[in-house]
Amino acid sequence: MQRIDQHYINGAFVASHGQQLADLHNPATEAVIGQVRLGDTVDAERAIAAAHAALPAQAARSVEERLALLGRFRDAMAARRDDLHAAVLAEYGAPSARSRWMVEHPVQVIDDAMKVLADFPFQRSVGQAQVHYLPVGVAGIITPWNSNAAFICAKLATALAAGCTAVVKPSELSALQTHVVMQALHAAQLPPGVANIVNGAGHDVGAALSASPQVAKISFTGSTGTGRAILRAAADSFKRVTLELGGKSPTIILDNADADSAAALAVQAGFINSGQACVAGTRILVPEARRAEFEDALARAMQAVRSGDPQDPATQVGPMVSQRQWERVQGYIRTGLGEGARLLAGGEGRPEGMQRGWFVRPTLFTDVRNDMTVAREEIFGPVLCIIGYRDEADAVAIANDSAYGLSALVIGADAQRATAVGRQIQSGRVLVNTLQHESLAPFGGMKQSGIGRESGQWGLEAFLEQQTVMAAP
Ligand code: NAD
Repeated sequence: MQRIDQHYINGAFVASHGQQLADLHNPATEAVIGQVRLGDTVDAERAIAAAHAALPAQAARSVEERLALLGRFRDAMAARRDDLHAAVLAEYGAPSARSRWMVEHPVQVIDDAMKVLADFPFQRSVGQAQVHYLPVGVAGIITPWNSNAAFICAKLATALAAGCTAVVKPSELSALQTHVVMQALHAAQLPPGVANIVNGAGHDVGAALSASPQVAKISFTGSTGTGRAILRAAADSFKRVTLELGGKSPTIILDNADADSAAALAVQAGFINSGQACVAGTRILVPEARRAEFEDALARAMQAVRSGDPQDPATQVGPMVSQRQWERVQGYIRTGLGEGARLLAGGEGRPEGMQRGWFVRPTLFTDVRNDMTVAREEIFGPVLCIIGYRDEADAVAIANDSAYGLSALVIGADAQRATAVGRQIQSGRVLVNTLQHESLAPFGGMKQSGIGRESGQWGLEAFLEQQTVMAAP
């Protein structure tokens, strides 16, 4: 049993003022594996004060000095790959391919931030004026549980690259991973107060960050509902916000696609991160003229998906993160059945032979209409819907008939035609015949999938303000 009692504030591990303890579970066994002490608003205020005091010096650091401190953070994370892997497996249960990625990605995103920083023009001439890019101030960083360490590293590295200081409120379900990041920050000997982490509940520590007048910006990844609450709380002090929120992403299979390879890619897109991915392609749009053929191919592709022990290399879908999440997914499967959707694979309950663990049967519905709850709401589990379309214009209309606009995938034999279809989708990211991700391109959502963009120069600019200086000649 691991007990995490301390926060990381002003360059030191400190005792918590908040005294409440929350259990940490292994989602594959349901066993309690540890406890985390939840901070409160006093802890949040201490961290904000430390970040505020450290801001002038961080803002004044040169690009070389910022690169040096980010390099130390990167190396400290790289040195803790084994610790992070153990934490990811224990408290999240990601299957092996995913858990390996969850260990490499935090290092990669710090590298990316350094690459962008090294080339970023912080001063530009426009006509007779000089434009300076200045750090926005103290950043509040709030992360979800589905890739906690990487989200902390990406947001924090970008904030520090911009010359900001930060207070991180990580997911309370990911305290083991967060602890590894805290240890890395400490080993990296960053200047005190530059990077602070406070464990705690969203309504408490998260809300304190969103409301504090000393916090200039919130960078949040999480659900659309929480994003809305943060936006409201941030309004009073006119905080800058970057909100990376939910999705209900469409996968459009065009009428010229090869059925088997399209089905394999569509299922893979739906089950990224065991279905607990904001970008998961959960609405699979197929042409009515070839519907039966695509349904068969998708049902066959589902048979190859193994849900179970995350340590087994054959497993693609691991457990849901918590009992609450498991019950939520079960509820949506019941709702789908109640609304008249037809099961092609999966259904309620655990996979056959499993009595314990928050495992879900990978589920595929067909006969889904785009106005059904299972097609409109983010389920955040391995539950996919097949929706038929008449022609390309109908496919685009269905894809766009959503509150969300985070990611879209188009699959077809003619890449040019597929790209042309993809360009019509109101989505921050469009993939064509691939699930590859470009980590230096802007990432973020349209509509209720978010505000602003992360990654690359766009991500850095989101932590900067422009100042135009015009002097008499
Ligand atoms: P969540 O919104 O419940 O929680 C996210 C974080 O916000 C947690 O740290 C939580 O403690 C905190 N929080 C909760 N209430 C708060 C409040 N009132 N004020 C401030 N902070 C508060 O989300 P989750 O369940 O942890 O994560 C799943 C969600 O995240 C899904 O909706 C998913 O789509 C989204 N997500 C989006 C992206 C993206 O890049 N767009 C990536 C991953 C996950």
